[in-house]
Amino acid sequence: MNHEHQIIPPGRAVHLADYDPASRCGFSDRTDATEKLESDVARLSELQERLHASNSHALLVIFQAMDAAGKDGAIKHVMSGVNPQGVTVTSFKQPSALELEHDYLWRHAQALPERGRIAIFNRSHYEEVVVVRVHPELLRARQLVSPEPDPDSWGKRYEDIKAFEHHVVRSGTVIVKFFLHISRGEQARRLLDRIDQPNKNWKFSVSDIEERMYWDEYVHAYEQAMSHTSTRWAPWYIVPAEHKWVARLVVADVLVSTLSSLDLRYPEVEAQQQARLAEARTVLQRSLEKRQ
Ligand code: ATP
Ligand code: MG
Repeated sequence: MNHEHQIIPPGRAVHLADYDPASRCGFSDRTDATEKLESDVARLSELQERLHASNSHALLVIFQAMDAAGKDGAIKHVMSGVNPQGVTVTSFKQPSALELEHDYLWRHAQALPERGRIAIFNRSHYEEVVVVRVHPELLRARQLVSPEPDPDSWGKRYEDIKAFEHHVVRSGTVIVKFFLHISRGEQARRLLDRIDQPNKNWKFSVSDIEERMYWDEYVHAYEQAMSHTSTRWAPWYIVPAEHKWVARLVVADVLVSTLSSLDLRYPEVEAQQQARLAEARTVLQRSLEKRQ
């Protein structure tokens, strides 16, 4: 799969209207894509084992989207083959009182993956330049040092986020950022579905309807954030998410190609350790023979 259409080159001004949320990425339908998705899920499982064994890198996957775009489903499906011991998913909600006492990157830094592991951020530090930009009154909760409104506060946040991510990448963690792209109409259909289907009622939140009123403001905040923070070291991908199977396919494909490019190897066993393995083998075999 070619990601030319999804990846945002550094410095590109993003206009979401230029990206088709209903794209099928060259596949005719869901069944046409099933085989590819299944093989990517299996490949991901293998690559995660190598990531763990080689203990040289970590992977951070960031998901951002409008409500009901399918972040949860994408995470569930794409990661379905991966050993749960190697992955941590953190869903970032409104910050707690303790978190608000710290700088806004603090809680995200704590959830970064250890070497050998995958961390998924279901929402992330980008909320600080998206929901907070749409509702600037949220800034007041942070009791910032300067009480004066700063005309370039968003520009400064983009700089800080880029620097934070660069530091993380230089320390051996690979970062991939996904924006799941749906249209406003599709969001309405999915929210209606949550109301009409009793077993989906629990997913419905009145705040989804309230936030929907700010659709254009969210689009603007996302466009600005992605235009300023897609970097060589931590690129943004705009994932067509109107068809859930397409979103899952693209996410799985990007993760497989990202991990494959790391050339992860199983550690080579040194001669001394080889000798120990041979000794252990003899001991185990003898014990089996005695029992017979
Ligand atoms: P779904 O798509 O299923 O609704 P969700 O990710 O929206 O899942 P919710 O529990 O509905 O999960 O919402 C989490 C809320 O927390 C979001 O509205 C998000 O904007 C908000 N949030 C996350 N980080 C911050 C932040 N730093 N400041 C303020 N609000 C935040
Ligand atoms: Mg929500």
